[in-house]
Amino acid sequence: MMRMTVLASGSKGNSTVISSSRTRVLVDAGLSCRELMKRMAVAGEDPAALDAILITHEHQDHVAGLGVLARKLGIPVYFTEPTHRAWVRMMTPRQTMSYAQWLDRVQKEKEERAQAAALEATGAVPATCDSMSAAVESASSRDIEDPDEPEVEQKGRTKADPAFLPTVEYFHSGRQFSVGDIEVTPFTIPHDAADPCGFVFSAEGARMALATDLGYMPPNVKAALKRIDVLLLESNHDLEMLKDGPYPWSVKQRVLSRVGHLSNLATAEFLEQDYDGAASFIVLGHLSESNNAPELARLAAEQALSGRPSLLGNRILLAEQSAPLEPICL
Ligand SMILES: [Zn+2]
Ligand SMILES: [Zn+2]
Repeated sequence: MMRMTVLASGSKGNSTVISSSRTRVLVDAGLSCRELMKRMAVAGEDPAALDAILITHEHQDHVAGLGVLARKLGIPVYFTEPTHRAWVRMMTPRQTMSYAQWLDRVQKEKEERAQAAALEATGAVPATCDSMSAAVESASSRDIEDPDEPEVEQKGRTKADPAFLPTVEYFHSGRQFSVGDIEVTPFTIPHDAADPCGFVFSAEGARMALATDLGYMPPNVKAALKRIDVLLLESNHDLEMLKDGPYPWSVKQRVLSRVGHLSNLATAEFLEQDYDGAASFIVLGHLSESNNAPELARLAAEQALSGRPSLLGNRILLAEQSAPLEPICL
């Protein structure tokens, strides 16, 4: 038996439990440790039974509670190496920087900006918004670790080093690995993070996939999402709502870009043109609270599938930001 329990999904925090009868992993930890524990209790998932945490990318809505949770449970965290490094950089407290280091960094940033401006002016490379947009995504909810969360001191390092984790395991996108009896296939997604990925999980004859935080659907993602029984798929924003919505222009541009997020329309296009129809459940996730409405996301997906009568058995569910979804069992 395989089970997917979406604890939270949306621009303010993402986390999902994937289980076989023997193994249980948490994908992303984008809420505080306390909130994640609360939601697991509500959904009937025992945190003590988790074997590992897998991280898709280092944006705050995917890692907010990671350090505290991993230390509390004493379980390994799986990242790609660039994602781990980016996370460590994020977690390194700024106040520990010496004045000389700070001056050095300011100088470097100045040079980088000058270089980027020069390159852009010559048209040598397209302007990217990597660091800027990552900052935008994380700025709203900086480090929301619970300071009073009881933590086991491990090798005396936890308090001194917020990036300390009990065990770190590296994986590479495109290369399959196993956690217990769950086979994991990570695949690269186009998103403005260090080395972002989605996952396909298979165990006991069933396959589940997570594909959120992607600017568009490239061929490798379409290929990865074949023969999936439960598919958690991004349906981030309604184009009209985003255009008329409250975000500043630069952030709108970022969301709409090829390394931003999938719109309801883009998701519908995938479902209409590329999706193989194999899933018993399609879970629409990572909905923006400001720029989407659950009814709009559902309607777009339902319309996309309605032209294909053979897909009437596909059930569409909507993952929520504020509460866990009923576990989906196969
Ligand atoms: Zn992201
Ligand atoms: Zn995200």
